[in-house]
Amino acid sequence: MLWQSYLPGHIYFGTNIIKENNNILQGLGSKALIVTGQGGSARRIGALDDICQALQHQHINWEIFDQVEANPSIDTARAGARLARACGADFIIGIGGGSPLDAAKAIAILARNDISEEALLNGQYGEVLPLAAVATTAGTGSEITPYSILTFPAHKTKRSITSPKIIPRLAILDPRYTSELPWQITADTAVDAYSHALESYLSVKTTPLSEVYAHAALKILGAELKLLSHSKTVTMASREALLFGSMLGGMAISTTGTSIPHALGYPFTFYKDVPHGRANGLIMTAYLDYNLHHSADPKTSQALEISGFEDLQHFQRLMETLCGPAPVCSQSEKETFIEQTMQAKNLVNNLITPSRQDLIEILEKTLQ
Ligand code: NAP
Ligand code: ZN
Repeated sequence: MLWQSYLPGHIYFGTNIIKENNNILQGLGSKALIVTGQGGSARRIGALDDICQALQHQHINWEIFDQVEANPSIDTARAGARLARACGADFIIGIGGGSPLDAAKAIAILARNDISEEALLNGQYGEVLPLAAVATTAGTGSEITPYSILTFPAHKTKRSITSPKIIPRLAILDPRYTSELPWQITADTAVDAYSHALESYLSVKTTPLSEVYAHAALKILGAELKLLSHSKTVTMASREALLFGSMLGGMAISTTGTSIPHALGYPFTFYKDVPHGRANGLIMTAYLDYNLHHSADPKTSQALEISGFEDLQHFQRLMETLCGPAPVCSQSEKETFIEQTMQAKNLVNNLITPSRQDLIEILEKTLQ
C-alpha cells in the first residue's frame, strides 16, 4: 500500500505548558494578530493572558481581533484579515474552540491574499501568514488539521477550506483551559472528536498511520463519552484525555477527511442552529446502522467494539443522553438538507458511498 502523511506542526501539550515554555512563540514573527471568540472565554480562562505574557517576554507586539462568532462566516474572516493588514501583523495566533481557530486560519490566508471566495475554496493563493493555535475546546482538532470550516451565507451552508499551508506551525493544548467548559459544550465537542475518529476509521482513504490515530481516539473517546453520560462533573484526568483524544481525531481526519455525519450535519447547523458536534451525534446512529446493513466490511462493528460499546442500541442510548432530541424539520427543510448534502465532496470517503435514497433514509431515521 502506498500512503503519505504530512503533520508538520510543533505540539506542546500539558498543564501550564505556556508558562513552562516562555519562548514558545519564538521565530513566528514580530507582530501578532490574536484571534479569539466574541464570547470572551479566551480572556476568562486565562489563555489570552498566558499568550500575552509569552509575547511580552519575546518583546513581540500584538493586536486583538475578538469578533469571531460560532460557525464563523467568511465576512468575519475578511474583517480579521483587514485588521491584520492594517496593523502590520506578520503572524496569527488563534485562541479558542474550532470557530476562532478556523477563522484564524482563513485570516492567515486572506491577510496575504486579496482573493475571491472561489479562489479561497479552490486553493488558488500564495503564501499565508504563519499560525499558532491554542485549543480551548476538546473537539475539532483544528489546532493540527489542514482545514478551516467557514459559513458562506451566499451558498447558504458551511464549506471547508483545505490546505497544508494552514496547518498551524505551533499547536498548544493545555487541559486547564477546558476546565470551565459547561457540561453540554464538553459533550457536544467530545461527540465531534469521536465522530472524527469514527468517520476516519470507516473511510476508504484510511492509511496504516491514520488508522493508528483513529483506533487510539475511538478507545479513549469511547470511554470518556460513557463517563460523560453518567456524570455532569468532569475530572481533570478526563479533560486531559478528551483533549488528547480530540487531537488524535484531528490527526486521523487530516489524512482521511470526514464523511456522512459531517456532510449531513452542516445543514443541521446552518438551518436549525444545532452545534456542530451535536449535529454529528444526532446522525451517527443512523449512519452506523446504514454501514452495518450495506457494507460487508467488518470495520463498522469493530469500531463499536474498540470504543467499548456493547452494540448499536448501547451507542444510540449514549448519543440520546449526550445530544438530546433531533430538531423538528419540515418536508421542505429535509429536501434542502438532502440537496445540499448530495453536493458534499466527502460522501465518497465512507466505506460505501450513499445514494440520494440512502441519505433520505439516514435523515428520516435521524429525525424519527
Ligand atoms: P466553538 O464554536 O469554537 O465554541 C463554542 C462555544 O464555546 C463558544 O460560545 C465559545 O465561546 C465557548 N468556549 C470555547 N472555549 C471555551 C472554554 N474553554 N470555556 C468556556 N467556554 C468556551 O466550538 P467548537 O465545537 O470547538 O468549534 C466548532 C467549529 O469548528 C465549527 O464551525 C466546526 O465546523 C469547526 N470544525 C473545524 C474542524 C477543523 O478541522 N478545522 C473540525 C471539526 C469542526 P467564545 O465565543 O468565547 O469563543
Ligand atoms: Zn467535526
